Amino acid sequence: MYIKFWGTRGSIPTPISLDDMKYKIRKALEGAAGLDLADKAVLDRYLARLPFTIQGSTGGNTPCLEVQSGDQVLIIDAGSGIRLLGIDMLKRGFADGHQHADVLITHTHWDHIQGFPFFRPVFIPNNHFTFYSPFDDLPDRLNRQQHPDFFPVPVSYMSATLEFKQLKAEQWYQIGNFRVYPMMLSHPGQAYGYRIEDGQSCLVCASDSEYKQVDPTSTEAYVDFFHDADLLIFDAQYNLSEALDRLDWGHSTAMMGAELAYRAQAKRLALFHHDPASSDEKIWAGKEQAEAYLARRKPQHVCEVIVAYDGLSLEI
Ligand SMILES: [Zn+2]
Ligand SMILES: [Zn+2]
Repeated sequence: MYIKFWGTRGSIPTPISLDDMKYKIRKALEGAAGLDLADKAVLDRYLARLPFTIQGSTGGNTPCLEVQSGDQVLIIDAGSGIRLLGIDMLKRGFADGHQHADVLITHTHWDHIQGFPFFRPVFIPNNHFTFYSPFDDLPDRLNRQQHPDFFPVPVSYMSATLEFKQLKAEQWYQIGNFRVYPMMLSHPGQAYGYRIEDGQSCLVCASDSEYKQVDPTSTEAYVDFFHDADLLIFDAQYNLSEALDRLDWGHSTAMMGAELAYRAQAKRLALFHHDPASSDEKIWAGKEQAEAYLARRKPQHVCEVIVAYDGLSLEI
């Protein structure tokens, strides 16, 4: 299964600020003092050694994931990241029509649907998109987002075929190559996570979820849902003190991700849905804390912690 993160920021698109950009450039230049950067090999070695927080940016687009198994494309959520996915799909045949993709929607908070009006493949005749979610009024919700008061182009102008299928929570569905199991998460207005299997590997996408209790009884259902996942995509919006200040806001922490990934014996934990106020340093500190937490748990279980960033792709 191939997975690409097109948007990883929660709540609102968050472009890198000028101050952050200047800080990264300054740090990179300071570290290069004394090196002969005119020598391309020296420059390449230096760049390869720079930490991600200096040479990269976690990214600013809101949630959108692309999942592929065989020739099937499955999109999860339509945050602002779906705009870039759409441009990429146009180069992969969707510009000519007669292509199909499936779309899973976790919920319809703005950050998970706001990119849809900018998803160019839906404006190409004869493309076909099948939407799946537990919401019986998903078409209406998308229509309302594109009401003329808020956006100039209505959904009805989108010339691709848009098909909508409703899923029930806690039931398995076969969607092409994928077996998909939705589970309701704890989040204002209802959000759903998806366990997705293709016979080779297992992805669990559990963004936008809060876990108020850590005890085994309260978390048992989640641990079952995450069990043995090759990749668990987890809402790590806050650090611990923010989470305590923001009870009922519907988000979680890297540490809670580490605890649940440990209990579920997940193989990789992807920290996701980063807070708009979080710097790259703060996000990557969450990864270090989660790794330290996992290292202390006995018996040992190897779970790799990664920071999901815009543009990251991986195979599981
Ligand atoms: Zn969200
Ligand atoms: Zn939400």
